[in-house]
Amino acid sequence: ADSSAHHRRLQWQILIGFIVGLVAGLVAYTFAPGAPWVDFVVTYITGPVGQIFLRLLFMLVIPLLFAALVVGIAEMGEIRSLRRVGIRTLIYTVIVSSIAVVISLAAVNILRPGDGVDRAAANDLLAQGAAGAASIVEASAESKAGVEQVLAIVPSNIVTAMSENDILAVMFFALFFGIGLLLVQTPRTAMLKSAIEGVFEVAMRLIGLVIRLAPIAIFCFMFNLSAQFGWDLLAKLAAFVGVVLLALGIQMFGVFPLLLKFLARKSPVAFFRETREASVMAFSTASSNATLPTALRVAENELRLPPRISRFVLTIGATANQNGTAMFEGVTVLFLAQFFGVELDLGQQAFVMLICILAGIGTAGVPGGSLPVIALIMGGVGVPPEGIGLILGVDRFLDMCRTTLNVVGDLVAATVISAGAGAEETEPAAGAYLAV
Ligand code: ASP
Repeated sequence: ADSSAHHRRLQWQILIGFIVGLVAGLVAYTFAPGAPWVDFVVTYITGPVGQIFLRLLFMLVIPLLFAALVVGIAEMGEIRSLRRVGIRTLIYTVIVSSIAVVISLAAVNILRPGDGVDRAAANDLLAQGAAGAASIVEASAESKAGVEQVLAIVPSNIVTAMSENDILAVMFFALFFGIGLLLVQTPRTAMLKSAIEGVFEVAMRLIGLVIRLAPIAIFCFMFNLSAQFGWDLLAKLAAFVGVVLLALGIQMFGVFPLLLKFLARKSPVAFFRETREASVMAFSTASSNATLPTALRVAENELRLPPRISRFVLTIGATANQNGTAMFEGVTVLFLAQFFGVELDLGQQAFVMLICILAGIGTAGVPGGSLPVIALIMGGVGVPPEGIGLILGVDRFLDMCRTTLNVVGDLVAATVISAGAGAEETEPAAGAYLAV
């Protein structure tokens, strides 16, 4: 309760930083357009302060993501008797997250919420971002050509991949390593796994400390952005929120009912009614982890799923099956690319898509868990990381919405996978749809 009170206070401070920065920037934009003092403030004060915040986040993201992925994968196959369920959960997660990400990318590409801002201002900021964040963004995934881009996913040297912030390659290694941990289950690998969990816990704690700086950083980001883009900024932000909600809605009320109906023969209406308690909890806490106990109860008491399977799927799903998060990350990165006029070719969009799918697996189920991941992906596609300031101001509300989708998605997964396992018990040869 103490930490949640803390969290709430921080949310308010972030909102205040957002509004004050926005208003200050708009005042500068309206009354002193292009004044030298605005330039001075952006170059020497608000710019660098924002950069420090981002650098701290970047610093922690690789250990965090690596540890989260390794542990996520290792857990899916942990319990021997549940290994089939684990493999199914993995395949289900990858397929359904892919659908989610494709929907979200299609929505941003069709609706283009980030188009049409002042190009000159965007270029200015891009140039500054490039100077300020050079060492962060520099070496990562510039547009490589086709085959080469695919090959680059498999790193030939993991240290180089990490040092170049090549996230896809790092994620690949993490997945591979996680599978290795699954294959070798000895007392020593159990220790290794718990050590990696330790890395995850420490990284999360440190990110928590860095996030305390967020209110100041947000003030700086918003000032920089609104001083240069003016009122346009607000319209774009509203369009962004609209597209995120639309994409989440399609998954929730389009894809989930189809999965329930065809893979689990369950009435979607009954499902939504029975899972209402978990949705409300997810929406109000914005944390999949905090909602886990409620989701477990709902699965057993309301959906009447076999506890053995639902416990397993939901526990894993709380961190590893995050459809809403994957969608949000996809929309955000492409929106910011449009906003800053960074053209992403098909290859780069595929890169974003793959990362979002994996990020859905690797993002922690806590409020704001997506943010470090977004900062990192943006570096990877050459979008100025300042953009994250823009997103942070509206993040709490979107976090509540995407977390609801995450949790409901876990319950859909548990329902579908239980149905598959049930069919298998009566009819062993035909546990077909996701069988490996
Ligand atoms: N808050 C989300 C969750 O707990 C994670 C995120 O930030 O996307 O599921």
